[in-house]
Formats: sequence, structure tokens, C-alpha cells
Amino acid sequence: MTQLGTEGHPLRVAIIGSGPSAFYAADHLLKQAALVVEVDMFDRLPTPFGLVRGGVAPDHQKIKTVTKVFNQIASNPRFRFFGYVEYGTDITHAELAEHYHQVLYATGAQTDRTMNIPGENLIGSHPATEFVAWYNGHPDFRDAKFDLSQERIAVVGVGNVAIDVARILSLSHEELAKTDMADYAIEALSQSKIKEVYLLGRRGAAQAAFTTPEVKELDEMEESDVIVDPVEAALDPLSAAELERSQDKAAKKKVEILQGYAQREPAGKGKRLYIRFLVSPVEIVGDQQGRVSKLRMVKNELYATDTGSIAARATDQFEELDVGLVFRSVGYRGVPLPDVPFHERWGVILNQKGRVLNPDTNQPLTGEYTAGWIKRGPSGVIGTNKPDAVETVNCMIEDVAAGKTWQPSQPGRDSVEALVRERKPNYVSFADWQKLDAIEQERGAAEGRPRVKFTSIADALAALGRAETVS
Ligand code: NAP
Repeated sequence: MTQLGTEGHPLRVAIIGSGPSAFYAADHLLKQAALVVEVDMFDRLPTPFGLVRGGVAPDHQKIKTVTKVFNQIASNPRFRFFGYVEYGTDITHAELAEHYHQVLYATGAQTDRTMNIPGENLIGSHPATEFVAWYNGHPDFRDAKFDLSQERIAVVGVGNVAIDVARILSLSHEELAKTDMADYAIEALSQSKIKEVYLLGRRGAAQAAFTTPEVKELDEMEESDVIVDPVEAALDPLSAAELERSQDKAAKKKVEILQGYAQREPAGKGKRLYIRFLVSPVEIVGDQQGRVSKLRMVKNELYATDTGSIAARATDQFEELDVGLVFRSVGYRGVPLPDVPFHERWGVILNQKGRVLNPDTNQPLTGEYTAGWIKRGPSGVIGTNKPDAVETVNCMIEDVAAGKTWQPSQPGRDSVEALVRERKPNYVSFADWQKLDAIEQERGAAEGRPRVKFTSIADALAALGRAETVS
């Protein structure tokens, strides 16, 4: 047989998922000068781009321009997109092994971490991930319900997701109406009664996970004052020493901005966004109907752990905050895929540098790889996925050179397409997606917005003249 990775015998790779790590991996594969590679990318949704579409905040359009890079990658004739085709149901692990030399799982982190405190399941206590997916028009969450008639809302965590959620809850109708947020969310948020939003950090200002531009932009909100307690924002000796030692300019700037907010008198805008530090929720308390009515919190102090990091520990002082809605934003979590080894505690696919490992032997499984959040956990910005994907692809290329790939019985491009057509005749190709993209942008232009998204699979397919699969 001719050598793998040549015109006559291309290396055939399936990528599961179509977010940033999937596209960066496809790019690095397709750029291999010494190998002819064909990439088929699968997504369970008809639309590509993962969290760039369903996670990035609607008022952060600039971040979404990364899709231009993804479009460029997708324009390679050796790239195909099979949207609305779900791994595990529409195409199985065994079928992938019949059609591809390698598979790369890039399915991200589709659920959330829990706080493990009493009351977390009360009505009105939600994962921030669901709220984000809802306002971004993710088809699975468009029917989610959030009681926005509440005046006071807590967001637990001080990462970039928490600050996104707190900001979205605090923006005015005018600010939201010019974004690509789902129409139903703009409507619901505009009707909301929100007056106060509390962001709750368990450690101090210097340890807040949100990044400096995100804290700075809060100052631009039309309708909401940012309130920080000067005592909570003050640096304790441990944090001051750590900040000095690390020479982390961005962290210093972040603390300065937070302390700047703490010095200010509120301007008297209609809403208030409070950023609190050194508090941990210990219980979400419900009313007689089982709805969230308050948050019981313990005040924390900081200490240096044996490894030198700065951690929080509870004091004996408690406080209560009357809130009607709680969003926990304490991190995303990966979801296991059928027939793929998973590390439950870490919430990632068991892997080494992107090579999926056999859990019994800890040795790489032939032909299987992973990239992005399902590989390393939910950390970093979009760009972090580029070196991460490159690391995985370099392992894939090394393994091709060593002859360690799957040996598919039907490696032809057409045979897998025939299988997909049989299973999902209504699948969405990249050209189909480009039609949907153009419609969304046209609808947006008519309203002075970047786009008006399809938020239901049925509507997106109908625009292509197809019907949804009813299972
Ligand atoms: P994250 O950055 O890891 O932040 C998680 C937050 O939850 C931290 O403040 C953490 O505090 C806190 N936390 C964890 N467990 C907790 C508990 N039991 N009780 C109270 N607080 C707890 O995660 P994320 O906000 O979900 O973001 C995920 C990734 O996406 C991050 O890398 C983020 O930068 C990125 N992202 C970027 C943007 C952007 O660039 N604009 C937007 C959204 C997301 P500790 O630090 O004390 O653990």
C-alpha cells in the first residue's frame, strides 16, 4: 500500500466538536507540509464554533472576530464540516475506526462544577453556564427559565464567566439591544426588576480570577454603579508580598482598579454591582415554596499553604444576604463521551499531551487524541487553545511516522459521507452553515446588530429547507 499521508492515501482525521481547539487542531493538521491530511469535523449542533458562539458574552463582539480565522481554515478543500451529527448516536466510536486513521475529541466542558453546599438545588439556584447558554441562544437552553423579577441576585465566583454574568445582568436595554444576544433574553432582561448584583469571591482582590480589561470595562456601564468595600479590597501582607514577588503587572493593575472603585462615591445610577471578597457561601436558604430567599456566607481569611499558594479559610463570622436568585460560577466541567476513557475527578479525558490513555495500562490508545478544555480542564482564553491543539497534533504526526494509527477498512471520503447521509440526511455542511450565517447577519443588519441568531434547531434547518430529526 502507498504510504499514509500522500495524495493516493491521505491521512484521514475526524475531529469531534467545532470550538476553538477543534479549529486550531484542524489548522495545524492541514498545514503539515510533508503530509496530505483530510479533516472531517463533527458537531452535534447545526452551527459551529462552540463557546465562541455559545459562551463569549454578546457585548464582546471583538472576541468573536476569531471566527474569520476559523472560516479561513474551513475554506481548505480538504476540510469538511458535518453539523447536526452527534458522536455516540449518529456516528459511533466503532464507525469512526472504520473510516478514519485518527480521531481527536475537542468537546469542551459542557457542564458546571457544583459548590456542594445545602440548598444548591432550590428553585432559583442555577449554574451560570446555563444562564450564559440561554442568553447566547444555545438551542438546548432557549427554554430555560430564570426569575428575573428578583431585585437582588448573587453570582458566586469571581472568574471571567462570573463577571460576564454580573455585567449582563447589570446592562441597560440599550446596551443589550445592540448585541447578538438572543431576542427572548434581551426582552426578559429588559423587563427584569434587578437592582443589585453581588459578585462573591472567596479569596481577596489580588487572587480574583477575572482579568483586568473585564474589571475596567465595568466602569462604562450606563445604568449600574460598581461598589467595592475598601476593607475587602485592601491588600493583606501575604497578598502584597506575593504581588511584589511575582511582578505581575496585570494583577497589580486589577487591584488598583478595584481599589479605585472602593474609593468612589456611587454616581446614583439605577443599579448596583457589588464586588465582594473574602466570603464563601455555606448555605442557600429557601422559603416555604422552596425558592431561594437568602445566602448564608462565612467570612474568610487568607493563609499561605504548604505549597506557597494563598488560600481562603473560614473564620467564625457569618453574614446573610437576601437574594432571590443565585448563579454559581465556580468553573465548567467536562462530560464523558461514549467509549472514551474519562477521569471523573478532574472532569477531563484521560490523556498525556493529548494522547488518550488506556486507564488500565496508562499507555496511549492507538488513534485517539484530545484537545481543549476536555483535555486540560476549563482554563485559559480562546488563544490558549492554539498551543494546546498544536501539542496534540504534534503527537498525532509523530504517531503517524511511527505507524501507530487506526487501520480503517473504508478510508474513502465518500464512504463516511454516505454513512452520514444515511443517518442524518438533514446534516449541515459548512456551505449550509455559511447560508445560515448570512441570514443571521442580514437579520442583524436590519436592526443595527451584529446578527440575530437562530436559537432553535428546527428554525435553522427550516431556513435550509430541511426538517428537524425527531427522536
Ligand atoms: P475560573 O477563571 O476558573 O474562575 C472560577 C472562580 O470560581 C474563581 O474565582 C474561583 O475562586 C471560584 N470558585 C471555585 N470554587 C469555588 C467555591 N467552591 N466557592 C466559591 N468560589 C469558588 O473559571 P470561569 O470563570 O468559569 O472561566 C473559565 C475560563 O474561561 C477561564 O480561563 C476564563 O478566563 C475564561 N473566560 C474568558 C473570558 C474572556 O476572556 N473575556 C470570558 C469568559 C471565560 P478561586 O480562585 O479561589 O478558586
